[in-house]
Formats: sequence, C-alpha cells, structure tokens
Amino acid sequence: MSSTSYDLSDDQKAIQDLIRRVARDKVAPRADEIDRTAEYPHDMFELLKGLGLFALPFPAEYGGTGSTLSACVAVEEFGRVCYNTGYLLVVQWTPFGAILAGGTEAQKQRLLPGLASGELRGALSLTEPQSGSDVSGIKTTARRTADGYVLNGAKIWCTNADIADFILVAAKTQDEAGQPLGINLFVVDRGTPGLTVGRKEDKMGARGVPSCPLFFDAAKLPAESRLGPEGGEGFKVAMEALNTSRPIVAARAVGIAQGAIDHAVRYIQERRAFGQAISDFQGVRWMLADMVMQTEAARQLVYRTAAMVDAGVTGRALAPMAAMAKCVASDVAMKVATDAVQLFGAAGVSAEYPINRYFRDAKVVQIIEGTNQIQRNIIANSLLGKAGR
Ligand SMILES: Cc1cc2nc3c(=O)[nH]c(=O)nc-3n(C[C@H](O)[C@H](O)[C@H](O)COP(=O)(O)OP(=O)(O)OC[C@H]3O[C@@H](n4cnc5c(N)ncnc54)[C@H](O)[C@@H]3O)c2cc1C
Repeated sequence: MSSTSYDLSDDQKAIQDLIRRVARDKVAPRADEIDRTAEYPHDMFELLKGLGLFALPFPAEYGGTGSTLSACVAVEEFGRVCYNTGYLLVVQWTPFGAILAGGTEAQKQRLLPGLASGELRGALSLTEPQSGSDVSGIKTTARRTADGYVLNGAKIWCTNADIADFILVAAKTQDEAGQPLGINLFVVDRGTPGLTVGRKEDKMGARGVPSCPLFFDAAKLPAESRLGPEGGEGFKVAMEALNTSRPIVAARAVGIAQGAIDHAVRYIQERRAFGQAISDFQGVRWMLADMVMQTEAARQLVYRTAAMVDAGVTGRALAPMAAMAKCVASDVAMKVATDAVQLFGAAGVSAEYPINRYFRDAKVVQIIEGTNQIQRNIIANSLLGKAGR
C-alpha cells in the first residue's frame, strides 16, 4: 500500500458494514423526527458512544485508533441517513485537531481521552456578529491578569455550545496594559462565571445540533486555559490543524449526496408518468448517472485527502487538498440533492418526504467550516503564493 493509498482496509470495511447496519436499523427511523423537532438527539449520542466511534481519529495514546479515513467512512455512512447523527461525530472531532496540535500535554491528557470516549463534549467558537470568514476581525478580548485572563465579548453560531463541557474560544489576547498580542484559543469550561450561552438558532438545516451565541462578561480564566504560546503563532498552528479535520467535514457531504441518490433511486422506479416508470425516461437516467459520477468523484477526493492526513501530510501540502475535498464534496452534495428534489417533483417539496432534508442540510455544508469561497481562496492562494485572503 502506498503512503497515501485510500483503499479501505479489512478493518475499515468491517466498520463500514457495522455502521451501515446500525444506520439503517437504528438511525434512519429517527432522522426525520430529529430534523422536525430540532431537539438534540441524546439517544444517538449514546449510540455512537456505546459503539466507541468517537475514538476513531484520535491517536492511540489518547484512546483512539488514529484513522481519519475510518472517521470519514463513519461520518459518510451516518450522513447518508441522518446528517445530524453524522454531525455529532464531526462536532466531537472539531476541537480535537486544535488541541492535539497546540495543546500542552496536560491539556491533551485532560481533554482528549474524554472526547475520544464520549465522556466529554466540546465546541469551537470563532465566529462573531461582525466577522465569520475574516477571523482577524474578531473583537472578543482576553486581557492578561496576575493569574490568568479576563474574557470579554460576544460570539455567535457556536455549535454544541449548550451541550459542551468545554468550548475552545478565539480571543484577541492583550497584556495587562491592554496592548494587543495576537489571537489565541482558550479552553472555557462549562459553567465558568461570566459565560452565558444564548438561545439556539432556528436553522434551515443541521437542525438537531444546536448553534448558540455566547456572551463573555469579565469571565475569569486560569493561565493554563490558553492553548499554545501567547500571540498569533499558537493560533496559526491550531487553525492549520483544522485542515486535518476538513476531510471529515467533507465526508458528511458525500453522505448527503449518497443518501439523496438512495432516496431518488427508490422513488423514480415507483413513480409512473406517461405509462411508464419515470426511471425509464432517458433524461431521468442521465440525471441519475451524473449524480452518481459526481458523488463517486467527491468520495475519492475525500478518501485520498483523509489518507494523506493519516500518512502525516501537513501544512502547505495538505491545505489545498483539504480545501478541495470540502469544496468539491459540498458543492456536489448541493447539486445532487437539488437534482434529487427535482426527480421527486412536488413530492420533493413536501415535508412528507425526507428528500428536502438533504437539500437543506447540503446548503449548510457549503457555508460552514470555511465557506466554499474561502476554500477556493485557499486553493488559488496555494497556486499563486498569496496568503490570508
Ligand atoms: C449551522 C452552522 C453552524 C456553525 N457552527 C459554527 C461553530 O461551531 N463555530 C464557529 O465559530 N462558527 C460556526 N458557524 C459560523 C460559520 O463558520 C460562518 O457562518 C462562516 O465562517 C461564514 O461566516 P459569515 O456567516 O460571517 O459570512 P461572511 O464572512 O460575512 O461571508 C458572507 C459571504 O461573503 C463571502 N466572502 C467572505 N469573504 C470572502 C472572500 N475573501 N472572498 C470571497 N468571498 C468571501 C462568504 O463566502 C459568504 O458567501 C456555523 C454556521 C452555521 C450556519
């Protein structure tokens, strides 16, 4: 096997089979209800925890199996029937890369085994009302004190915020006199005095996992809550680490596309028009063929990028591939889900059928974890040698 081979191993195929069965028998029957009620699916979290799936991408020393490719397979298979259940895995894994890359050994020992087992839940908070894509525009401050930091500011769209045991929060660090030192991530524990979690957003997609605003009013943090060295360098390391979880984000989009195809294949064989099944119309068959081609191409890109992460590829070699995987897979998910709704006709628009859920969830993936315009900027910058825009 080459260092970035992405053939699934026998173990990975076994994981895929197991998850496919669990997804079909236990997750699929809950998917519509989770979307409709927008209630956090505690039962699905316990199911994933019981199966030990949170451990998949974590290194062995923190209780994991160290495979991003296995993580992608898991997310894809759950996303195929229920985006929100796949999202539970992704949310658990979002802070992981930053802690692994930028955390002290004490922080890793405190947080990573718990995330891997499901005993702890985390969240990552960068976005603020005035700045999402442009992280350098955040206004939340962490002012140094004699024994730590004081956090002031407001965040929005923090997914998992009202569930998480801790949140990684980006803030502009200042010295005691208020002089800027650069951005840092801080580990903010649930219940920290001065932290308030606001009311969850009523979302179009990704409805089962809450996204909430955060408010920091002189929240006191101990010095050891800072991730990495003070100033911009630690933040850069943590942000680069997010490239390693981008294939996992992208795998969710492959799952959406495949799930939309699954539903469309069943529907077009049952639905009849002009005396025949609509699957017998050439125009419909070609649409379906395009949907499958695009999804398979996206899957291969995602698996290959995951295999690169597992082979230890980082930095500039990984960044454009990770961006391509996220961008291609989520654009494909949107296109395929749109075509699937089209193939359902009016039934595609009706809440009686699940296909509109795929359409709504696909739109979200084009926006979150770096919009697809930002991913395109990363790809172009890697060719043209410009950074930051
Ligand atoms: C369901 C959901 C969950 C989320 N969860 C989290 C979370 O857990 N933690 C968190 O921190 N954030 C989270 N977010 C926020 C998300 O990361 C941001 O919405 C995203 O980064 C875009 O920021 P914005 O909404 O402020 O858009 P803006 O940055 O205002 O962008 C608006 C538009 O302009 C485009 N644009 C901006 N800059 C450029 C550029 N340089 N070149 C080309 N186009 C550009 C964007 O692509 C977009 O189309 C979540 C969002 C959603 C919808």
